[in-house]
Amino acid sequence: MTQKDSFPYEFGGPIGTGLNILFLPVLILCLTHWSAVGSVDFTTLPWTTNVDTLAKCIVGLVTWFLFQVLLERLLPCKLVQGTPLQGVFAARKSISTQECLEYRINGHLAFWVTFLVLQTGWIVKHEESGTWQFTSFPLSGLYDVTAELALGTSILCFGLSVYLYLTSFIGNKRLAVPGTSGNVVYDFWMGRELNPRIGNFDWKEFCELRPGLMGWMILNLAYCQKQKEVLGYVSMSMMLLQCFQGFYVWDALYQEEAILTTMDITTDGFGYMLAFGDLAWVPFTYTLQARYLVLHDPQLSITALLAILVLHIVGYVTFRGANGQKDIFRRNPEDPAVAHLTYLKTKRGTKLLTSGWWGMARKINYTGDWIMGLTWCMVCGFNSIVPYFYAIYFLILLIHRSIRDDHACQEKYGSDWDEYKRKVPYRFIPGLV
Ligand code: NDP
Repeated sequence: MTQKDSFPYEFGGPIGTGLNILFLPVLILCLTHWSAVGSVDFTTLPWTTNVDTLAKCIVGLVTWFLFQVLLERLLPCKLVQGTPLQGVFAARKSISTQECLEYRINGHLAFWVTFLVLQTGWIVKHEESGTWQFTSFPLSGLYDVTAELALGTSILCFGLSVYLYLTSFIGNKRLAVPGTSGNVVYDFWMGRELNPRIGNFDWKEFCELRPGLMGWMILNLAYCQKQKEVLGYVSMSMMLLQCFQGFYVWDALYQEEAILTTMDITTDGFGYMLAFGDLAWVPFTYTLQARYLVLHDPQLSITALLAILVLHIVGYVTFRGANGQKDIFRRNPEDPAVAHLTYLKTKRGTKLLTSGWWGMARKINYTGDWIMGLTWCMVCGFNSIVPYFYAIYFLILLIHRSIRDDHACQEKYGSDWDEYKRKVPYRFIPGLV
């Protein structure tokens, strides 16, 4: 059997990933359209061609990306070591578990600088007085060009992925095991190189947290402004959604270091899947609820909004509690916050937590994340399925991801993983699932 035949393909293999590459951008355009009209509507086109606007949007997107690069490069940062590197070398075919990469952690500062710049605006010449004045950014205009922005981002992501794929063949790069099938389409999707860098600029870590995540926040604010212009007020649902999602983005950047122990950073290569996911999928599908709310206020009662808020807090505490606990434990098992927890010492050398959050269920962090996502949809009421796209898609993603991680851990840990699963039998909900 050849390597290609025996390769453990995921996402439907070359055909499945090829279809994803082709159709995900189309799906984003459809969802953008449907969230504005408020229903799944096949009678009208999701996008009408306006090449001029598309070109301007592409210039705007590149400027936005470069602005974030500038902040990452120039703002003061904390230098943090990542986890010991996994992956294989293209030439030597060996795995080193000692070497770590250093990351520039300043995403939280970049978040606030971006926010400040948005509030301050830009300097323009006042037509009547002829003086130069600060004017806030006309964010609400983004509502009308969201389709062009989404299409422009998809084109740029494709270009970036081609660059990443081609450069992964230059020199003796460390490759991510899932992206080494030898099939062009599949490896293009999965990403060949584990940590593509220019100097110490890390493409993957940067894209995971900055342009897309902060782009999500900006689109949300744009839709909030638009609702004020169109309806004359900002609805309670919109306010709550802005708080929930704004906090999620802020929290991800505040806890930037925690991303260094996640699967995306430690295991997956940086290819179309992550580039498109981070830069296009996140900002344009995670904003569907805010886009929907612009024209559709469900006028939920205070009791309903309070119930949603409580559910959101439950989700957040679970999500952050579990991720934070693992991150602290992996960095320093002696830390007083985790020193009391029990763990399984594996033959591989690492330790698996068997009490605390990770003793309740093996993927309790996913459960918390999903609950939060569900509350984002619930603030839109129950008149349309469109805002619930996120909860449905995220459920599928997390189940699939948990299966992928389970396989990966089985490979890494062998019988230790079986032992861990005996000690912690539930996957998502303690005592149930
Ligand atoms: P995890 O943070 O769950 O990381 C999985 C890895 O953690 C395993 O491969 C293993 O790696 C280690 N691990 C597993 N069990 C234990 C244990 N008991 N004790 C210590 N270490 C353990 O997965 P993800 O990276 O997928 O997710 C991180 C967060 O990101 C989640 O909350 C998820 O919901 C969220 N997420 C959000 C997405 C979004 O689009 N909003 C998309 C994807 C994820 P090893 O032992 O080799 O270190």
